[in-house]
Amino acid sequence: MLWGLFWLARVALRFAANATDKAQRRGLVCPPFGNTPMHIGPTQFTTPFRLGSTSYVYAADLLTNVERLAGEGHVDDIELVLFELENGPSNLPDERTVRAMAEVASAHRVSFTAHLPLDLRYDTSDTHPSLRLAQRVIELTRPLQPLAYVFHLDGAGIEHADWMNQALQAVETALRWVPAPDYLALENLENYDPLYLEPIYAAFPIGRALDIGHVWKQGRLFNSVKEYGGFERLRVVHLHGCATGSDGKREDHLSLSCVAPAQLEATLRALAGFTGVLTLEVFGEDDFFASRTALLQTYNRLSTCPT
Ligand SMILES: [Zn+2]
Repeated sequence: MLWGLFWLARVALRFAANATDKAQRRGLVCPPFGNTPMHIGPTQFTTPFRLGSTSYVYAADLLTNVERLAGEGHVDDIELVLFELENGPSNLPDERTVRAMAEVASAHRVSFTAHLPLDLRYDTSDTHPSLRLAQRVIELTRPLQPLAYVFHLDGAGIEHADWMNQALQAVETALRWVPAPDYLALENLENYDPLYLEPIYAAFPIGRALDIGHVWKQGRLFNSVKEYGGFERLRVVHLHGCATGSDGKREDHLSLSCVAPAQLEATLRALAGFTGVLTLEVFGEDDFFASRTALLQTYNRLSTCPT
């Protein structure tokens, strides 16, 4: 049960690769793109970005995780990793749970980002399961006022000419459900070149979610945000360790403690000026707290000795 939850949450992320008033009082409103920072007010850790975790740090349900992460002051933001597997388990909260999560988070000035469960795809109509589930999740989480809805595009057939047309239609459909286009943040994946996504960013004023763990998993170095569209539309950054396992396969969503200090330092230098949400996209107490320590120690070292 304990590790089952973490496993399912990992599966939800990985197989996602396959398969106003109140807010203003909380100081969490997202202004439109431009030079305005995405959030207003100080963060828990005096970082310019909001430091976040997934919703599965503790081997417990969503509400317990929110109560502990927010109530004990561990994070600025919580990424809701939601899933509903076909003929399988679902962790979509009911309305009462959502209201309770909103109250706890609001009391502790903690924000949310939401990860849409399935990789979006448009079939011959807008009734593809990925879109139907995306709509349900966006409606269900509305009381939580997520700062971003992070989503993947289904990469099957990405090299074929007709892929782009359905991808554009999928994004256009999802845009109907969000408060403004920049709330939809399209994330790069490890199983296709991020350059395939550039026409989508060019077609719509949507946000960007940059997963640096996925960049590393592709065997690339990450030294500059500019290569990934720059800061202007960057709403969310995902960070997690990546290493080669004993079977020779690259694994991600690991603790940042397995990332070389120089690599982490170069990453934080490249992110200087980022004021969105930085999510440590790992699961379990050990991996989260070790990652947070590695990140904050590096950040504090760079802040006091920037060159
Ligand atoms: Zn991610």
